[in-house]
Amino acid sequence: MSIDDEIGEWRRTHYTSQLDSRLDNEHVTLMGYIASIRDHGNIVFVMLADKDGEVQLVFKRGKEVSNNSNSESISIPFFKVKSLKEHSCIAVKGKVKVSPNAPRGVEVVPEELKVLSLARSIPPFSVYSRTFPNLDLRLNLRAIDLRRYYMRAIFRIRHKVLKAIREFLDKEGFIEVNTPKIISTASEGGASLFPVFYFDREAFLAQSPQLYKEQLVTAFEKVFEIAPIFRAEPSRTNRHLAEAISVDIEEAFADYKDVMNLLERMITYTIEYIVKNANDELRIVNPMLTIPKTPFPRYTYDELIDMLRKNGYSIEWGDDLSSEHLTFLGRVINGYYFIVDWPSSIRPFYTKNNGKIAEAFDLMYNDLEISSGSSRINKKEELIERLKIQGLRVESFEYHLKVFDYGMPPHAGFGLGLERFLMTIAKLDNIRDATFYPRDIDRLIP
Ligand code: ATP
Ligand code: MN
Repeated sequence: MSIDDEIGEWRRTHYTSQLDSRLDNEHVTLMGYIASIRDHGNIVFVMLADKDGEVQLVFKRGKEVSNNSNSESISIPFFKVKSLKEHSCIAVKGKVKVSPNAPRGVEVVPEELKVLSLARSIPPFSVYSRTFPNLDLRLNLRAIDLRRYYMRAIFRIRHKVLKAIREFLDKEGFIEVNTPKIISTASEGGASLFPVFYFDREAFLAQSPQLYKEQLVTAFEKVFEIAPIFRAEPSRTNRHLAEAISVDIEEAFADYKDVMNLLERMITYTIEYIVKNANDELRIVNPMLTIPKTPFPRYTYDELIDMLRKNGYSIEWGDDLSSEHLTFLGRVINGYYFIVDWPSSIRPFYTKNNGKIAEAFDLMYNDLEISSGSSRINKKEELIERLKIQGLRVESFEYHLKVFDYGMPPHAGFGLGLERFLMTIAKLDNIRDATFYPRDIDRLIP
């Protein structure tokens, strides 16, 4: 007995991406949702989409009775076909037919149809629309927004980026770790922490795995973590999320120059992987993606301050680069480049420095910061000194400082914003489209 809105015993035999002319006249069972419907009266074309692609179903009035005797197949009442709506979830059993004019070179003539879930209302966007201007409307219905082929391509690229990064770091001898996201003190200092109730105490969501990954190099030397970071960013920008994914690495017996080289190779390895393995997705989101040349240009902070001043910007040595400054620099310098040797006063307390200049870098793409990293302080007294200078409470860091009593190797590392990196690969203007469910000052749902 086959109930026509239950999957029952039906299982798909093929994904649409597996259909081709070699299957001519074969019977297949397909499942997915309806990408589009073209109703020509006595013939209705339905594009059935599944996770990898789509195929055209051809429903004809009068031809709906199946004479396939070895199944309990029934005729498909045409009113049922007529009642279908885009985005509805369906399953069909039918016959593959070679059809040179159809999108895949084949189409399927259904003999049985199950409407597993009929869309109740007209969907606000077509799966084919590349841009849909109302971001809030899209985000409010994010799961359905993600059915758009453009969005799906972005997140399939994201998957491949993560795969390439893991593959690269594994080959380089790094091991993947996970560190606590509920923490007792800031890892970087400063504001921008989310407080949480932790039993009878106050705790915070981790803004970075910094101190833990430093501790872990004592045992493992080369570690990486891919995990959320939480930042209470009060500003509304196209590049800040309250919850983002950070690709963090830390390496013992290395300095900032070593990890810059590593980062550069990780970026090119990943982009090369995407160019080779994400053709279909790139065709939709960024056909022009090319593998960047290495080494990436390196500019010192001082050089850029000079450049800014020569172009009429007033900036004091020791000031952080504002978004206005970065906009200018991004117009002059294109693609990926490093800014190195920052004033130590504007870098976190754990950054190795000579009292004035820090062994620190930012990796930029035009005007967008992708990553920050540095050599770290591995001497306890120096670290205590820096905590004091930056106005942080030394007692709060006791649990961390004591590790430095037991032979802390020199080390360096970086944090790379996954969404920001994806923005550069998929050519996105807004970081909200590089994450499944963005969190920002205005948004806590869905
Ligand atoms: P910005 O100056 O752009 O706010 P940051 O210097 O505060 O970034 P870091 O603490 O250096 O950020 O974090 C390392 C990396 O993590 C950044 O280079 C960026 O790619 C990413 N990142 C940091 N904060 C956010 C955020 N709020 N949303 C998305 N990505 C972020
Ligand atoms: Mn930074």
